[in-house]
This record gives sequence, C-alpha cells and structure tokens, in this order.
Amino acid sequence: MSTAVRSPRDVIRSMLADLKMPGSLEAVDGILGDIDGGRLQATDAINRLLSAQITLRNNRRLQTAMRSSRLPAVKTLESFEFSFQPSIKREQIESLHELGFIDRKENVVLLGPPGVGKTHLAISLAVAAAQRGRRVYYGTLIDLITSLEEAQAAGNLTRRLAILTHPSLLVVDEIGYLPINHTGAVLFFQLMNRRYEKASTVLTSNKGFEEWGEVLGDDVMAAALIDRVLHHCHLVNIRGNSYRMREHTELYRALQSDVENSSEAVRPPRKSKTGIGNRG
Ligand code: ADP
Ligand code: MG
Repeated sequence: MSTAVRSPRDVIRSMLADLKMPGSLEAVDGILGDIDGGRLQATDAINRLLSAQITLRNNRRLQTAMRSSRLPAVKTLESFEFSFQPSIKREQIESLHELGFIDRKENVVLLGPPGVGKTHLAISLAVAAAQRGRRVYYGTLIDLITSLEEAQAAGNLTRRLAILTHPSLLVVDEIGYLPINHTGAVLFFQLMNRRYEKASTVLTSNKGFEEWGEVLGDDVMAAALIDRVLHHCHLVNIRGNSYRMREHTELYRALQSDVENSSEAVRPPRKSKTGIGNRG
C-alpha cells in the first residue's frame, strides 16, 4: 500500500469510489473548494456530499422505473403550478408526495374536468415513489383492462392479476373517458379487490363517483368498487380551468395579435416571425 504520498483529498476520493458513491465523488472537489474558500460550513458540506449521491441514486431508480412502469412522461411536483389551480390544497399534495400513504396502503383519487392536472399529479406521485425505490406501474383504465382481457384469453389471468397487484403504487388513469364492457368492469373490479388494503392505487377520473356506475355499466359493482377505493383514501377534487386551454388561449391570443399586426400590410411580410399558420 502506498498511501504515504496521497493527499487527504485523494484518500476521500478513493473512499467514495470504494463505497460506490459516484454522485458524491463527482461533487466532492467542488464541496472541498467551497470549504477551503470559507463559503461552506461543515453541516452544509456533509449535506451536499450526501445529497449528491442520493440525487444520482434516485435518478437511476427513476430511469429504471421508466423502462418498466409504462409511465408516459416524467412529471414532478416542482413543475406543478399551484397558483393556476387554487382549488387544490397545496399542503395536501405536498404531504402526499412524502408517500406515507403508500406505507399505509391508502389510495388517492383525483377528480376533475379535463386538463386540470390529474394525470400530472398521478405521475408525479409515481415518480416520487420510483425515486424512493418503490415499484410503480401506470395504465389508463382501458390499457389495464385490455391487458387483463388479453391475459384471460391466453389463460394467464391469474398471473397478470398478480403482476398488477404487486407494485406498491398503481396508477389507474382516465376512468370515465371511454365506456367499458361488462367483462372489462369485472376484471377491473377483481384487480382492485386484490389490491385493496395490500397496495396503494392512484385513480383519476373526469366523472364524479355518482357516474361511475354508468362508466362501469353496473351500479352495484361500481358501488362495491367505490366502497373499497374510498375506505382508505385521499380525495383530491379539482375544480378549475384546463391548463391545456390556458396554453391554447395564449396561442390563440398570439395568433390574433399576429394577424392584427400584419393586417395593415397589404402583403404578408416575407419573413414570418413565428411561422405559425404555415401548414405542415
Ligand atoms: P388531466 O389529466 O386533468 O386531463 P393533465 O395532468 O394531463 O390533465 O394536464 C394537461 C397538461 O397540462 C399536462 O402537460 C400537465 O403537465 C399540464 N398541467 C396541468 N396542470 C398544471 C399545473 N397546475 N401546472 C403545471 N402544469 C400543468
Ligand atoms: Mg389525464
């Protein structure tokens, strides 16, 4: 061993490498530089060193989850604008993102009209869970039912139900956009029945519970389903405007002002500022 010539910095670096802490290893020089420059206290330095590793680990976990969870995008709590949706209780959403509900095997139901952020928040919960190393899975109600129907046709229903019961967090998105047939409703009920009190489910719907009977084509089964879902449940009822429409409104205004600005010219200017309006 030739440790004699190694500087304390080198020793720290090789220990971080030995411990397989590449996030901390990458951050350590900057941190030590800030300490030497008198810009960083010991507590903050340790905090930064460990946070760098935790961030790297969480990002890796998320990358792995993105391959298997079928999450359609990465949405985060940080990118959610609470000011746009005043009916949402920020503390409730933030506390849900601490994920105690997953340990307690409770559910979350997000209700509200299209575009208010139901899918965004369902995904951000799943992302947070994946970053904490929990197994997550995402599907629209139709996707999940289709996969159960296919499994049933192939004689694998039990196995498929087990696979969908396994994740600590299952997102069932878009309950209510498309009607489902009786077989589909029964299969979904079976799935939710298996997950009941065993693992958490986040459900989103544009329909109030009173309309779920119509969605599932069976009032009695819908009532039994709602009973299980609501037994240990956090309800987020979003009453507000569509975030998508907000973007449309801004685009519409931009187009309008573009039209107004160019309406004085007899011919449109040769170089278009925005390119909006060109087809294709
Ligand atoms: P819903 O599922 O309720 O129909 P989404 O969650 O799909 O709505 O939201 C539509 C789009 O608007 C998504 O791209 C989403 O990330 C974004 N969005 C919705 N609400 C917000 C918000 N309050 N802050 C930031 N982005 C939002
Ligand atoms: Mg949605």
